Amino acid sequence: MRALLIAVLASGLVWESGEQGAVPSDAPRAPGSHRQVVLPAPRSPEFAVIILPVALRDLMSAVWVENNRHWDELADQNTLTQLLGTGRPTQREYLGCLQGEIARDTLWVRGIVAAAELKQLQFAVSGNCDDVDQSVGTWHTHPYRADPAGRAMKERGLSPMDLATFASARDVVTLVMWDLDSLDAAAKAVDGTVRHPALLAVR
Ligand SMILES: [Zn+2]
Repeated sequence: MRALLIAVLASGLVWESGEQGAVPSDAPRAPGSHRQVVLPAPRSPEFAVIILPVALRDLMSAVWVENNRHWDELADQNTLTQLLGTGRPTQREYLGCLQGEIARDTLWVRGIVAAAELKQLQFAVSGNCDDVDQSVGTWHTHPYRADPAGRAMKERGLSPMDLATFASARDVVTLVMWDLDSLDAAAKAVDGTVRHPALLAVR
């Protein structure tokens, strides 16, 4: 399963499209700031809704499952152990790139590909989508974490840090899958301000 998944992600999965209006690839690069700063307009058309094809959502779900295995094996470890980094790595966050285009009032997600220089930690992830064609943003996973009693704790939706990272990037959309089939989205307005939650439809 893992090999198949990686092969699919490596080759990219791009939906055929006859639409126009891709986000320009020469959009200004954001500085590597971690603070929330309103940047100049990303020069992409305004959109009101993000459309994610069912097949891509299903692929994201498969990635989420793969990166969320064994989360409950942390039941015998406490949070301090995890914070100190001596806990066994079990689940990991995953980061991927979104390809798409904007047509009229809709951002169509057309494909997902793996991020370059992917570094997966238990509760953090890094990578970049700089060389992705028709890049519109990123998506990542939030695996469960176990509380001291071994129950699942879910980080529901984009975190304040996720939103700050998004605000300082050139991306116009960002998604997180925080549970199987559960997604949260943020989008950037023409003036660069972050709208969260953004309207997302899977179909
Ligand atoms: Zn996150």
